[in-house]
Amino acid sequence: MRLLSLHALERIDAGERANGISAMAKRYACNAAEKAVSSAMHVFGAMGISQELGLERVFRDVRMLAIPDGTYEILTLIAGRELTGVPAYRA
Ligand SMILES: Cc1cc2nc3c(=O)[nH]c(=O)nc-3n(C[C@H](O)[C@H](O)[C@H](O)COP(=O)(O)OP(=O)(O)OC[C@H]3O[C@@H](n4cnc5c(N)ncnc54)[C@H](O)[C@@H]3O)c2cc1C
Repeated sequence: MRLLSLHALERIDAGERANGISAMAKRYACNAAEKAVSSAMHVFGAMGISQELGLERVFRDVRMLAIPDGTYEILTLIAGRELTGVPAYRA
């Protein structure tokens, strides 16, 4: 996650386009966060869904990250376009 983000930032600093790698970094990071919180919920069982731990709040918040600034599907289309040079849509 960190390496992908740093790689994208390095490209931007160099004045290059980084749409594809940025899309990969965001998708990977959000997905990893969702999996981590989901695992924590699993480990804590009923306490995970209680309001005491605050985990249920993080669980809801983390799901939101995958919507603004590019949903997974759109990020995948962006990364695919950069890797293959072929846009998903043609005019
Ligand atoms: C809290 C919040 C803050 C926001 N802040 C900003 C902001 O600051 N600036 C800004 O510009 N926008 C902002 N947005 C808008 C945000 O970028 C869009 O809501 C987001 O990109 C999803 O677009 P949409 O809601 O039109 O969903 P839709 O485009 O209707 O997508 C609905 C679902 O269909 C999927 N989908 C859509 N098209 C395709 C396709 N071609 N192939 C496969 N699947 C597809 C999507 O992945 C998604 O799962 C914000 C939204 C929210 C919820």
